[in-house]
This record gives sequence, structure tokens and C-alpha cells, in this order.
Amino acid sequence: MKITILGSGTSHGVPVIGCACRVCKSTDERNNRSRSSAWITTRGLSIVIDTATDFRIQALREGLDRLDAVLYTHPHADHLHGLDDTRSLTHDNPVPLYATRETASEIKNRFDYIFRATQQGGGKPRVFFREIGDDPFEIGPVRIVPVPVMHGGLPILGYRFGRLAYITDCSEIDEEGYERLEGVETLVIGALRDRPHTTHFTVSEAIAASRRAGASRTILTHICHDMEHGELCDKLPADVEPAYDGMTITLPDPQ
Ligand SMILES: [Zn+2]
Ligand SMILES: [Zn+2]
Ligand SMILES: [Zn+2]
Repeated sequence: MKITILGSGTSHGVPVIGCACRVCKSTDERNNRSRSSAWITTRGLSIVIDTATDFRIQALREGLDRLDAVLYTHPHADHLHGLDDTRSLTHDNPVPLYATRETASEIKNRFDYIFRATQQGGGKPRVFFREIGDDPFEIGPVRIVPVPVMHGGLPILGYRFGRLAYITDCSEIDEEGYERLEGVETLVIGALRDRPHTTHFTVSEAIAASRRAGASRTILTHICHDMEHGELCDKLPADVEPAYDGMTITLPDPQ
């Protein structure tokens, strides 16, 4: 199984439009963070978690040329608004969008033209919903375990594939969430910045959550322009790394 970090940035992306801070002006590519999303390839399947605003650029950059499913964490714009750019990947085979009822309903509102009988052909993505709850589900041979977490007051989902879990926007994980994470080895988890935020973990909160989950490798994502990549690498413990766009992690295929 391979996970590619398609985007490692918070909702604005980094650089932020109009910002002249040193991170936004950095020439280190790892400070260039597109909106958060991940691409999993395992057992012959190509699965994307969220269609970030920057999906087109991300797919071109990584050579993503096939799509078997999209898993949505939640319907915030930064995680969703690249949906229209799945057109060329869904043209021949309609692709399922896995989402909770609430997320699916929000996606239908936001992208109403996709789900109405309007123009046909290549003009819109060919996608359909597979509604999920908190129960584990299968896509072909791959078992996926939803991980319920809180993003401020909004209940959202992370996803677990065997020993890997991906949790993006998160400010709290309850007992049930930690139970779902038991035995996880690699945890990709959102860490916005050092200053507290109402709907996102700080770096230290994300590390504490990952430690509690028992992960032996922690990868921080959904990072804002407060954080310079090299400095973050220097100050983090040895088992914690900041994600960057294009980062790949290879693990055994989930059983
Ligand atoms: Zn976000
Ligand atoms: Zn900036
Ligand atoms: Zn969000």
C-alpha cells in the first residue's frame, strides 16, 4: 500500500494569497502546501481521500491517472471543491463517493448540477454516492474503518486502512475514535500551527493524540503558514514528521 500526500496545507493553502511572510515567500518547495488530500493505492485500487480545491494540479503532479473511489472526510470547501476536476477520471467508469448522509447532502447542495439532469457527456463528473456511517466497509478487497472525530462542533470522519490511519481536520478524538485507532502504526493527522484553534489540533495536541493512539510514526498535515518546514523538522521528536506535498509512505497492504 502506498499513500501519497496530495496536499499538506490548511484551507488557504501556503503561500496564502496576498501574504508576504517568510514561509509564504520561502523557496523551499516543502513550504508550498496545497489543500489537504491523500491518494491511497492498494491491492489494485486507486482511492482518493477528499477532492481538495487543488485536485487538478495534484493529480497532474503525481500522475494520478485512475480513480476507483473517493472517501470524504467532511464537506468543507478545501476538501471538496476539486470534485469537478474528476471529470476525465470518471468519464469511462462512474466513481463512487463514500460519504456520510450529512456530507453527501452538503455535496449535493454545493454541486447540484452534477446530480440534476442537465447536460450530459464530458461536461460533468460521473459520480454517485455510497452512503456510509461509522461501520467498517469494503471497497473490493480493501477493508476501510471510519474513525469518527470532532472538528470543532462538527462530527467528521478519518479513515483507517490496516496499520495506517488518515485524520485531517480534528480538534478532539473521543474513546470510540481511539478504539478504532488501536494497533495503528502510522498516523497522518492534522496539526494547524502552535497557537490554539477552535476547530484544529495544534502541533502538540496532534502529537499527544497520536501518542495516545499508540502510533509509532506520526505525520502532521493541514499545516498553515506559521510553520516553516525545516524548522518544524528540527524541533519535532524523531517519530514525528511534517507532511509535504508529494510525500509518499509505503506500508504492507491491509488484510
Ligand atoms: Zn480543512
Ligand atoms: Zn504567509
Ligand atoms: Zn474542515
